[in-house]
Amino acid sequence: MRRFDVIAFDADDTLWHEERKFVDAEEKIVALLSGYHSAETIRDRLHHYDVSNIKFWGYGVKSYVLSMIEAAITITEGRVSGAEIQQLVDLGRAMLAHPIETFPHVETTLANLNRTHTLMLITKGDLLDQEMKLAQSGLGEYFEHVEVVSNKQPDTYRRVLRRYKIQPERFMMIGNAMRSDIKPVVEIGGNAIYIPAGLSWAHERAELDKSHFAKLDHIGQVPAYIKQLEG
Ligand SMILES: [Mg+2]
Repeated sequence: MRRFDVIAFDADDTLWHEERKFVDAEEKIVALLSGYHSAETIRDRLHHYDVSNIKFWGYGVKSYVLSMIEAAITITEGRVSGAEIQQLVDLGRAMLAHPIETFPHVETTLANLNRTHTLMLITKGDLLDQEMKLAQSGLGEYFEHVEVVSNKQPDTYRRVLRRYKIQPERFMMIGNAMRSDIKPVVEIGGNAIYIPAGLSWAHERAELDKSHFAKLDHIGQVPAYIKQLEG
């Protein structure tokens, strides 16, 4: 009998590049508002709204646009122009239209695991954006289940596992974010593989004892590691 019933993957910065879109956008905002304040203040305000607004607007580009606008209003003490706000909205639209670029080994890994296991995608963010990215990536066919969730707390995973009747100890989660993909899964008794991405959002950092999860360098190493675990 196999050790895992379901192998689940995070999407952003696990299957494809995402964070660098935000890093690029930040550079553009700093340039746009450079006449009003120092780069450091602009970044500081942006990060503040980006994180503090999650509880109101959730994750993803749409909420990032609202945070950009709110940061711009504060940074300029209300002097930001309609034309500048339009540029921020256009920047958000360009982020949504940005072509997907998957990491190396993603497709071969999913094709390999798909032959022996049920694969699930668990991602947070905006429903429409995440669905469009998955469709564009061409990876949709490998996933039997796709869950776009508003948060990745232990209770989120508990609910998903209950709905699909999966025992936590027979569940494996793979992702780039300690805080969202690894820690909550370990907390509910599941298994996790942490694959750090070159760029990761500071908000997603967390500490966890290394005996509770495995860390691999890239996604191409996952099939051999699972095989080894399953003897
Ligand atoms: Mg991620």
